[in-house]
Amino acid sequence: MSVPANSRWNRLLARPALVLGAAALIGFLLGHPWPAVAIAAMALVGWQQLRLRRLVQRLSSRQRITLGSGNDAWADLGQLLHRSQEETRHRAQRLVEMLRAYRAAAAALPDAVVVLERDTQRVQWFNEAAGHLLGLHYPEDTQALLAERLRPLPVAHWMANARNPEALLDVPSPVNPAVRLSLRLIPYSDQFWLLVARDVTKLMHLEHIRRDFVANVSHELRTPLTVIHGYLEMLDPAEQPDWAPILVEMRRQSQRMTQLVEDLLTLSRLESQDSINDEVVAMDSTLATLRREAEALGKGRHVVTVEDRAGVDLLGSPRELHSAFSNLVSNAVRYTPEGGSIAIVFELDQDGEAMLSVRDSGYGIPESHLPRLTERFYRVSTSRSRESGGTGLGLAIVKHVLQLHQARLEVTSEVGQGSTFTCRFPAGRCVARAAEEDAQ
Ligand code: ADP
Repeated sequence: MSVPANSRWNRLLARPALVLGAAALIGFLLGHPWPAVAIAAMALVGWQQLRLRRLVQRLSSRQRITLGSGNDAWADLGQLLHRSQEETRHRAQRLVEMLRAYRAAAAALPDAVVVLERDTQRVQWFNEAAGHLLGLHYPEDTQALLAERLRPLPVAHWMANARNPEALLDVPSPVNPAVRLSLRLIPYSDQFWLLVARDVTKLMHLEHIRRDFVANVSHELRTPLTVIHGYLEMLDPAEQPDWAPILVEMRRQSQRMTQLVEDLLTLSRLESQDSINDEVVAMDSTLATLRREAEALGKGRHVVTVEDRAGVDLLGSPRELHSAFSNLVSNAVRYTPEGGSIAIVFELDQDGEAMLSVRDSGYGIPESHLPRLTERFYRVSTSRSRESGGTGLGLAIVKHVLQLHQARLEVTSEVGQGSTFTCRFPAGRCVARAAEEDAQ
């Protein structure tokens, strides 16, 4: 097999000792050994420079390094670079495949997914579902301003405030108003946000059916219960001593059922409301009523105190707010043993939010139960709740009333020490008290 001239030179020059030795011998024979050695050494250095330059050129122009032959340092270096280039290539290929798989998975999701640039809120990428749920079109809508693209929806205002992952927005689809969407904004990196829109039409429909069913059943139960209750009231236990305990129990149970039906109807009414008619709720008289209720319900078994430190009134529905506060007061009375204390405090915090707290020194609630307290029929102790005449709907009513007022319920409790239920109202719901305004 003939060896190319270039490769022959390469092999020769790859052995510097041989080249220098040969140069020295030829120089010696010609009578000038040192100049011959110097020329050979310069040739060697030049050749190494040339190879180095070629290698740098190949690397900087991202050319592939071919496996070199021979067993000198250049061949070893070539092999190392070749191997590392191959590894990098494989890794990049795997990453591209993974990225394609992730994109395909995100594209196949039934929920609309839109990647937004955080600062500009411009669309960077979206999947197929974003087309038929949000009406986005590829490619025109990449780089579009999302809020502008979904204009009739109040997205701009929501995005400006929806900084936490729990923030949800329920809106009709801009493509088909019969489709209800639940939008969620997920800030997943410093640079990008993920907007997920889920079709909740069926869920809303089922929720509607459930709400109507509960409202209808409660309504239908109301009349027969009123009749039974009326007849029971007419029967005097004193006139029928043998039946007295049975009559008393029947009255108690019919009273409980009536209360249950009333609570279910209240909940249905609250659920079907999106907003309330704001009126000024006079807090001094509300607090006085709550005190009277606590004392009447507790029949003097507790020490009841009321502190009015806020000096403001609330904007809202007097009837619903009274129902929420009196539920809290009734719970405090029912879950506090005789001799305990109940404190009702109305105050402002440093942000101007108004807080109405009902604090008791009662049985307390184990921490694990706190997150579920406002669920319907959720009870920490079923027997204690029934004994005390509870329906298990009180705190669900409180939660709904507060939601209608953009307020929230906070609960802290310690078993054996007592509980504090605080209704926290945004500063926008506070108005200066009429009497105090006059005084200024
Ligand atoms: P209920 O009619 O059973 O009182 P609620 O919805 O008002 O229903 O309250 C739910 C549960 O929360 C109650 O069953 C009770 O276990 C617990 N709870 C509510 N308020 C208090 C309180 N002040 N102290 C102790 N437990 C309470």
